[in-house]
Amino acid sequence: MKALNIEICDVTLRDGEQTPGVSFTCSEKQEIAGMLDAIGVEVIEAGFPIVSENERECVKAITRMGLDARVCCLARARQEDIDAVLECDADIASIFIATSDRHIRYKYHCSRQEVTERALSMIDYARDHGLEVRFAAEDASRTDTSILADLYRAAAERGALYSSFADTVGCMTPPEMYRVISGLAEVVPNRICVHCHNDLGCATANTIMAAEAGAFQLHTTVNGIGERAGNASLEEVLTILRLKYGIDRYDLSLLNRISETVERISGLKVQKNKAIVGENAFSHESGIHIAALLEDPLTYEYVPPEMVGGERRFILGKHTGRHAIRHVTEKLGYELTPEEITGVLHEVKRRSEGKCSITPEVLLSIIGAVRREA
Ligand code: MN
Repeated sequence: MKALNIEICDVTLRDGEQTPGVSFTCSEKQEIAGMLDAIGVEVIEAGFPIVSENERECVKAITRMGLDARVCCLARARQEDIDAVLECDADIASIFIATSDRHIRYKYHCSRQEVTERALSMIDYARDHGLEVRFAAEDASRTDTSILADLYRAAAERGALYSSFADTVGCMTPPEMYRVISGLAEVVPNRICVHCHNDLGCATANTIMAAEAGAFQLHTTVNGIGERAGNASLEEVLTILRLKYGIDRYDLSLLNRISETVERISGLKVQKNKAIVGENAFSHESGIHIAALLEDPLTYEYVPPEMVGGERRFILGKHTGRHAIRHVTEKLGYELTPEEITGVLHEVKRRSEGKCSITPEVLLSIIGAVRREA
């Protein structure tokens, strides 16, 4: 296994909260922060303090929790933004500026030179006030890489601990990400961060490729929530780090619980076939699969459900076979004869082909009917 030197910065409480229609209360933010800390995430991006008084109160509530994780906050390259981060007693200010020509022209309406100078002077200001700094290039993926490298180097010279590469619009593919980050890693003297969006469905893959290419800090959100199509998902990234790189310091058994918590608090339903935390991630219906799984779960599961706090479920339906019927009915406390199993199997297939889902109640009524006939 290749050794990766990485840390996780989870941005659920900041980018995740920027999902259209989502807002967290302070106690909800604290609940999520506590779970992220229990999982072992190294950095929690707690918010964007300049946004409101309430946002500052929520970030303060998190910094007062005394977590092991360091707390990071977002700030534009403006003194009042950094003062707001200082007021919250956070550890790291993520000072961001957009670096692409398009963003500079249509957002800032001023020269690249002015934008850069403002950012560098704000790094000085934050450093002078005792903050660690992440210099974050917004829309980095659409910025000329030599311009980007110069900016990161200048920021590192001013004492920024991190250089953050944001694929703000999610336009990258894994091979592109590998090439760009490999190039930057050769010339950027401090720690590279990657912040990947999922507009092309590549956020997790891009994050892993960036780590392979030398990125140190990986940004994630629980359930992959975030602006538009969301961010790289915490549960996917951590599971890949465990299974493919042997990184075992994170408590993955909490992943399904934190997923349910964020689903409930955000109101954003997790898609059923979502990796690791979706309702179907460990559900099986095929009779062939279930017969094999009962002998050895690895036949049809790569990720062990117990590793990520999930649960294997057998769903009865038109593809069900005798092994599954026996297994499921035994679990319900029935010992059926081979003839009864045949009868139940027949009825399960008939009903599910009529689009009736075989809930435990439906199954009990089928067992009752088959036994009465016998
Ligand atoms: Mn983002």
